[in-house]
Amino acid sequence: RHVCQPTCHQRRYLNHFISKEAHTPIADTSPTAADTSPVSDVPPSTFTLAVKDNIATTSFPTTCASPFLANYRSPYEATIVSQLRARGARLVGTTNMDEFGMGSHSTHSVFGRVAQDPEGDIPAPADTSSLLSAGGSSGGSAVAVARGEADLALGTDTGGSVRLPAAYCSVVGFKPSYGMISRFGVVPYANSLDTVGFLAREVGRIRNLIVGDGSRPGLWTEHDPRDPTSLSSAARIRCADSREGYNSNTAGDSKRPADLLRGLRVGIPLEYNISELDPGIRESWARVAAMLQSSVGVRAVPVSLPTTRHALAAYYVIAPAEASSNLAKYDGIRYGARATTTITTEDGNTTTASDASEGGVLYAASRAAGFGAEVKRRILLGAYTLSAAAMDNYFLQAQRVRRLVRRDFDRVFALANPLHDGDKDQQQEEQQFDLSDLDERIPMADKRGPEEEVDFLLCPTAPTPPPMLGEVMEKEKNPVEAYMNDVFTVPASLAGLPAVSVPVSVQGGGTGRRGAAGLQLIGQYWDDARLLGVAEALV
Ligand code: GLN
Repeated sequence: RHVCQPTCHQRRYLNHFISKEAHTPIADTSPTAADTSPVSDVPPSTFTLAVKDNIATTSFPTTCASPFLANYRSPYEATIVSQLRARGARLVGTTNMDEFGMGSHSTHSVFGRVAQDPEGDIPAPADTSSLLSAGGSSGGSAVAVARGEADLALGTDTGGSVRLPAAYCSVVGFKPSYGMISRFGVVPYANSLDTVGFLAREVGRIRNLIVGDGSRPGLWTEHDPRDPTSLSSAARIRCADSREGYNSNTAGDSKRPADLLRGLRVGIPLEYNISELDPGIRESWARVAAMLQSSVGVRAVPVSLPTTRHALAAYYVIAPAEASSNLAKYDGIRYGARATTTITTEDGNTTTASDASEGGVLYAASRAAGFGAEVKRRILLGAYTLSAAAMDNYFLQAQRVRRLVRRDFDRVFALANPLHDGDKDQQQEEQQFDLSDLDERIPMADKRGPEEEVDFLLCPTAPTPPPMLGEVMEKEKNPVEAYMNDVFTVPASLAGLPAVSVPVSVQGGGTGRRGAAGLQLIGQYWDDARLLGVAEALV
């Protein structure tokens, strides 16, 4: 796969596509696909779409960049792909990524690592170590959009995998409210966190799709009965009713983006100003906050989200725990490539285990060959934190931190969270768990400060500009240090909130690095339309 013609050597070495339209034309003969997207309904294509390779298409294989699924073809298409085809998308290819979405630099791929091209069309170096990381895990999607090879790209964002590559590649990356966009046909990583995300060069392209553009209803209206985590139609209406300007399909259009800024309060979360934050990015953050202050009616106010510093640890317990459970099905028997292995029988003879009768051996051999090192690390971590001996100290504790993270956000936002507001079960659940020990260690966690409530939060997307791939390789020798990159993106993921990363320039970006980074706007649950409107006015 990924056979490029000589004219596109750049593409080969950036390695951002796994399958590409011109090179692997495949007739769509799947009856299921025909059911889900009737040809008569498909309008002439109006935009090009690249799809992360963990989202099922019937045009290309769906590999998740894993050896296990390297030859897998889905018999059906993800709902979001059909929804976009129905809105005029032409699929140009599937994009490279970290295996199963696990990683932050798109380096953990069976198809090789992704690089971004900061200088334009320069000749390919033999070794990409000196090129910049595209970010991950949706790095291929970000590069495809940045290079203009797709107008829109789909990614998945479990803990930042759309926002981080968007920031590194200077494009827009949007993670919607959890449950808004159907995940039917999206290979699960961590179900309680997974969202489909969108990458584009302009906010407007994403906003028109989510909110609706007058000719087509917004994606936010569409419940998918095939995805159990897709918010019900009734809940969508209830959430929408509680959101100003959200009551029609063209919500937000009544207010032009620039008007949305008037009277807005934007919170600057103090805990995000960590010592590891790159000085150039800190400066850009301050500059944009000051710019907002001086524009019509916007107030930038400091707020405190005290649980932030525990969010990363909680994420790296919860996500691998869910992953270890999700990935148990790849056994080489029913799912995934089957390994053949030689086993020694009791009488000392050797035989080949290649069918289900040698279940245990086959399972172990297939998983040993089928998963990459990072995925194995996550499975081991997850299996451990879910084990009887560790469950209380890790998994349950992480769930408590997750609730505190959510409470932090609910406390600073002026809008109530329509899912938690007056939620008796939730309050009871919180009382059942004794949070006092944790609250003690997070002293301000549940105390209402003197601060003002805000409409949105503004913070960096990542602590540094994109590192060179050589540095990434060095760093990945210590995986925990590599996880640090997600420190600003995981809190919104844990709380299920919408967040968008928009590009900003960084002064004095340093040698060999593009002077660019991303700033992230985070909104209250189901405030996606207004969030995108504000982001559009910002850039
Ligand atoms: N880097 C994070 C992880 O490896 C986020 C991944 C994602 O959002 N898919 O888990």
